[in-house]
Amino acid sequence: MSFLDDVKKFGKNLTDKGKDIVEITKLNSQISSEKENIKGIYLKIGEQVYQEFKNGTESPYAELCGQIAEIEAKIQELSDKVLELKNALKCPSCGAEVTKENAFCPKCGTKLGE
Ligand SMILES: [Zn+2]
Repeated sequence: MSFLDDVKKFGKNLTDKGKDIVEITKLNSQISSEKENIKGIYLKIGEQVYQEFKNGTESPYAELCGQIAEIEAKIQELSDKVLELKNALKCPSCGAEVTKENAFCPKCGTKLGE
């Protein structure tokens, strides 16, 4: 094999390597996006399990669901603090944020106040 052939072969290998790198990057990004799809399904499974737990269905994941319930309660508490600081409250009917001065909910018309 001549020197020139060697150079050509070397060049071809470089081009192939470049193509490979592009292909690898493409495949890896496909793998990542498929993994994201799985995560989305995991999330749906989790939400379904938690919903069933909240509906009173016996669940083997009761302990974890209980943790979510605790966190939800904490979020509720924090949200209430935010509302209080904003001098606002939530419509008991539709959940819209309304000011304490409103006698009726501007969204659904529910009578507000104690
Ligand atoms: Zn409302």
